Amino acid sequence: MSNYIPTMGLEVHVEIKSNSKLFSSSANTYGMATNTSVNVIDLGYPGTLPTLNKEIIRQGIRACKVLNCNITRKMHFDRKNYFYPDNPKNYQITQNRTPIGTGGYVEIEVDGIKKKIGISDIHIEEDTCKSAHRGNVSLLDFNRAGVPLIEIVTEPCISNSKEAMAYLIKLRELLFYANISDCKMEEGSMRCDANVSISKTEKLGTRTEIKNISSIHNVGLALDKEIERQEEVLENGGVIREETRRFDDKIGETILMRVKETGNDYRYFIEPDIPYLVVTDEFIEDSLKTLPLLPDELRKKYKEVGLTSLQIEKLIANRSLNDYFLGLLEFKTNYVTAVNLLLSDISSYLNKHNKVITDTKLSYEKLVEVIENLESRELSNKNIKDLIDSLMETDKTLEELKKEFNIQNITDDSFINEIITKVIENNPDSVNDYKNGHDRALKYLMGQVMKETKGSVNPKKASDMLVKELNK
Ligand code: ADP
Ligand code: MG
Repeated sequence: MSNYIPTMGLEVHVEIKSNSKLFSSSANTYGMATNTSVNVIDLGYPGTLPTLNKEIIRQGIRACKVLNCNITRKMHFDRKNYFYPDNPKNYQITQNRTPIGTGGYVEIEVDGIKKKIGISDIHIEEDTCKSAHRGNVSLLDFNRAGVPLIEIVTEPCISNSKEAMAYLIKLRELLFYANISDCKMEEGSMRCDANVSISKTEKLGTRTEIKNISSIHNVGLALDKEIERQEEVLENGGVIREETRRFDDKIGETILMRVKETGNDYRYFIEPDIPYLVVTDEFIEDSLKTLPLLPDELRKKYKEVGLTSLQIEKLIANRSLNDYFLGLLEFKTNYVTAVNLLLSDISSYLNKHNKVITDTKLSYEKLVEVIENLESRELSNKNIKDLIDSLMETDKTLEELKKEFNIQNITDDSFINEIITKVIENNPDSVNDYKNGHDRALKYLMGQVMKETKGSVNPKKASDMLVKELNK
């Protein structure tokens, strides 16, 4: 059965971040009380006129840039006509004939192999109401009506579910870092429809479309399941119909929703209430000015300052830490130590208190000082654990905190020597192990010294003195 070749294409909708909606001045926010961010345009009142929000075109241009698309210079909007309760105007304003971007790609890597996933077009459109069904009533929330979306359509060039998932992860990362969208599938700011067909020849088979899959993981499951179903149908002598299905993650199956409508059913025509739009070089340049560094550029930069791939990925997965670290690069310090701190004690603190780093009092200057003290061993990792709350919550300087926590830097040689002599006397086995070349014994003995002094001696100095004593 497995000599069928599967082909997939994805259509992704993301909600664009902006102050106001696509054609009205209502706020574009998420999570407000139902029907509170609404005006007559969003409600589709007759006689009202849409006004195009320039900010959204700027976001569209940024999306073109990060997805490597050609930017359409002269565009218009189209009406897509259909009747449904979530759409009281009976049409959606979209870009059917002149999408803002065409001919782009996203590069993915699966099992070490790089591949460009072609993007045929990206277009701007308005979102519909959100409907909720309660028994036999349906409720509508117009907060979402008119929220700007970008739809990103791939070529039918995805060969398996792994590639589909890698594409979605990469797309989410790009649009999130470019500040175009939050891309939260669980909140609906990123939604995915997956098209799939199978064939034994070059000619693509008839596709089905799986609508509105709720997570990237489920996209993978749904595609695998749908390929299996299509193979079974064809093997049993059946035919695949062009249809819309949904994925039920409880039973792990795709389920028929309806036989697919075709483009003609929508009777697209040019939206007469919005003028043609001509995009100039200046406007494009200006829109791209605010584009921050993208993840692949960050990866390159971080590699140059010596971070490991694991550290890099962890940092990029945490946007606020990433942005903080990026700022730290303006200072001269040990960046590897910095990242270790950020990903360990600092992250633990932030998670425990449910904070982001910008909510804390950890200035770059303070962090740089902590790193210097760690390097000179005037502070131990254990000291950091004791100090972390105060470092994050107070304006006290590191010197003040060291005093307060009685972190002394005892350098009195005779005191240290006394302790070392005692430790050597009490641990003859470890001393022997050390003399026989077991490096771990030194660590153990050093641990004993720190324990005896309750961590109050300068570790570098104590360690040097211990080695000297052992080598006598
Ligand atoms: P529609 O206008 O019905 O949405 P599109 O031509 O825009 O159709 O294609 C929608 C998506 O389906 C695209 O991502 C495209 O790559 C994908 N697609 C089209 N034909 C096939 C096929 N035969 N097999 C798999 N995917 C396909
Ligand atoms: Mg389409």
